[in-house]
Amino acid sequence: MFHKISENVYYTDHEEATDRPAMGYIKGDKYSLMVESGNSKANVNLFLKHLKENGLKEPDFVAISHSHWDHSYGLSYLNAVSIACDKTNALLREMAEWKWSENMLTEYVAEDKIPLFCEPHIRLEYPDLSEIKVKPADIEFKSEMTIDLGNQPCILKNVVSPHIDDCVIVYIPNEKVVFLGDSIYEELVRDQWIGHSDKLSQLIAELEKLDFTIAVEGHFAPKTKDELLVSLREKL
Ligand SMILES: [Zn+2]
Repeated sequence: MFHKISENVYYTDHEEATDRPAMGYIKGDKYSLMVESGNSKANVNLFLKHLKENGLKEPDFVAISHSHWDHSYGLSYLNAVSIACDKTNALLREMAEWKWSENMLTEYVAEDKIPLFCEPHIRLEYPDLSEIKVKPADIEFKSEMTIDLGNQPCILKNVVSPHIDDCVIVYIPNEKVVFLGDSIYEELVRDQWIGHSDKLSQLIAELEKLDFTIAVEGHFAPKTKDELLVSLREKL
C-alpha cells in the first residue's frame, strides 16, 4: 500500500515475505526524490505503478539508505539519478562484480558475505538468481549532503548506527519527516541480531536533536518521535 504521510511525502509499506523495505517519495516544486530503490525490478515497477495511480511523476533522484540488498538492488531499474554515501558505494562496487547463481548464493552465505537470514528472501524475490544486477549510485557524498527539490531541502546524512557503518538517514525539515532505513536496527550476522549499545546511544542523541513528527523505518510501521525514542531507549 502507498500512503501520504505529510503534505509532500509518501511511503509504501514494507513487505515481510521478500523483505522489501518501506520506500519513500518526496515532492518539491521542481524535483522529486525517491528514498530506497527496493530489492528488484518487480519492486521498482510496483512503486512506479503506485506513483502513476496517485498522479505523481517518476522520481528525478533516488537516494538509498545503505548497501543491503533489499534497499539497493533495485537501482539498476530506475532512470532517476541515484545518490549514496561513499561507504555504500564502495560496497555496491564490490557487489557489482559478483556473479549470481544457485551455487554462488550458497557460497556467499557460507562465506557470510550474504547473511543466512536473507537467503530465503532473496530466493523468493529472485526465482532466477542470474537476474540480479547490482550497480553503484551515480552520485556519492561523504558524511552529509543537502538536495533541494524546490522549496524542499532534503538532508542526507551518514549516521553512526548499530546496523552497519554506511547507514544514511533522509531528513525533510519542511515536512518534519525522517526516513531511517535500517539505521535503528541491530547488526545482522548470519541469522543473529547483534546489538551495539554504544552506537545506538550516539544515534539516539542524533535523533533527539532532529525536529520531526514522523519517522519512517525500513521494516516496521512508522512511529512518532516519542514512540521511536521510547522504543530505542528500551533497547539500551
Ligand atoms: Zn539492512
